[in-house]
Amino acid sequence: MPYVIVEKCLGEQYAACVDVCPVECIHPIDYEGKPFMIIDPEVCIDCGVCLPECPIGAIVASPAEDPAWAEINKNLAAQAKEWEAQHGKVTPRPPNDPPRRPDNKLVK
Ligand code: SF4
Ligand code: SF4
Repeated sequence: MPYVIVEKCLGEQYAACVDVCPVECIHPIDYEGKPFMIIDPEVCIDCGVCLPECPIGAIVASPAEDPAWAEINKNLAAQAKEWEAQHGKVTPRPPNDPPRRPDNKLVK
């Protein structure tokens, strides 16, 4: 079962999780006008390495722990990959930056 990033991450984006993922399945994206991270459930190998790295406990170990946000991760994964295929990977931003789109432009 893939790991899931939940609502707490919305607007935070410490990105500590991204650095440790061995299969690079954590993608930055904007959701509801805020920076967010999602885990691609088709690529996650359930290694668990990311979970203790998140400073605010925004990662859970299975979709059963938060089915609604698991669905959001799944749906946004397709969007994130489509965007990255066209524009290249984006560097996650530190927390408390002004909200930006995945192309690093400020959200207006
Ligand atoms: S470390 Fe936690 S808050 Fe930061 S991007 Fe990853 S899941 Fe979100
Ligand atoms: S559980 Fe492992 S593979 Fe899945 S997102 Fe976390 S670090 Fe990446």
